[in-house]
Amino acid sequence: MPYAIQIKETGGPEVMQAIDTETLEPGAGEIRIAQSAIGLNFIDTYHRTGLYPVPLPAVLGMEAAGTVDAVGDGVSGISTGDRVAYAGGGVGAYTDSRIINAGSVVKIPDSLSDEAAAALMLKGFTATYLIHRTYQAQKGDTVLLQAAAGGVGLIACQILKQTGATVIGTVGNKEKADLARAHGCDHPVIYTEENFKDRLLEITDGKGVPVVYDSVGASTFEDSLDCLAPFGTFVSFGNASGPVPPFNPGILSQKGSLYFTRPTLMSHIATPEQIAELAGWLFGYVENGLKIEVNQKFPLKDATAAHVALENRETTGSTVFLP
Ligand code: NDP
Repeated sequence: MPYAIQIKETGGPEVMQAIDTETLEPGAGEIRIAQSAIGLNFIDTYHRTGLYPVPLPAVLGMEAAGTVDAVGDGVSGISTGDRVAYAGGGVGAYTDSRIINAGSVVKIPDSLSDEAAAALMLKGFTATYLIHRTYQAQKGDTVLLQAAAGGVGLIACQILKQTGATVIGTVGNKEKADLARAHGCDHPVIYTEENFKDRLLEITDGKGVPVVYDSVGASTFEDSLDCLAPFGTFVSFGNASGPVPPFNPGILSQKGSLYFTRPTLMSHIATPEQIAELAGWLFGYVENGLKIEVNQKFPLKDATAAHVALENRETTGSTVFLP
């Protein structure tokens, strides 16, 4: 019998419970996936706590990989037996058997295992849209990337490196600094030991950077703003330390006609065409050497332990659940 990890109420990691589910048949335009690996993402914790509200009860999870075992009417281009993966398509990935809109999935290249695909999709799509569409990093740019040793972080370091940018990345400890450096971060800054703004201004001879990719939110907002050169772009894409507090837009003019944007992956994967474009770029980076390592694995039924580890900054890179 299939099972899923569900929440009936928002709260701490303990609100997640395993429940038995039915084997359902896909409707028109849908497929069913026998899921072999599921990605853990920080957004799962926002859904669990209610920071990003979802209708309850809810099965958490936004990313997984597996093999198609049933196909609904009107689906073309995908057959039973295909290996597929997805990011988005609504919550519901924490299960061994998922029904999802066929337009949400991509076929997994032969060079990637299911585990690697589940580790790559959501974080890789995010790093890709941020670097291609939100602020197009160029060869010669020096950029600031917060949480450089995290899931999105290690992938973004590698994409930025392939792009030819110089990466200044913040990390919480020495082990994470070494890991970020090994993935292309030119200047890992251990923010628990030195002020990242001071270090960045030293590295850039006081000029600042044209873009900050900041997923940490509340605790880094002010110093990240001070890292920007005039006309720089603040890309606020996450809340690992809590949401950015309300601020007066006048601060953007005082600090040099800055731009501030708060993008979400969901706008960037709203159509199959957008998904295909992102997948093309991302799998291109994989062909060029982007490595996706799964640094933590948990049984899906241990989702609670995985959320605790992620929120306590004990993980690096990507984490997957095995059903
Ligand atoms: P990570 O693996 O990056 O984990 C978060 C990391 O943030 C931690 O490992 C930690 O690294 C750092 N951090 C700094 N302060 C805190 C804090 N107070 N509590 C917890 N962590 C902290 O997670 P993901 O790769 O899954 O996601 C990275 C970020 O990207 C998240 O904020 C997520 O919400 C965001 N995101 C946004 C998307 C969008 O489209 N807007 C899509 C996908 C992800 P360290 O110890 O080095 O400080």
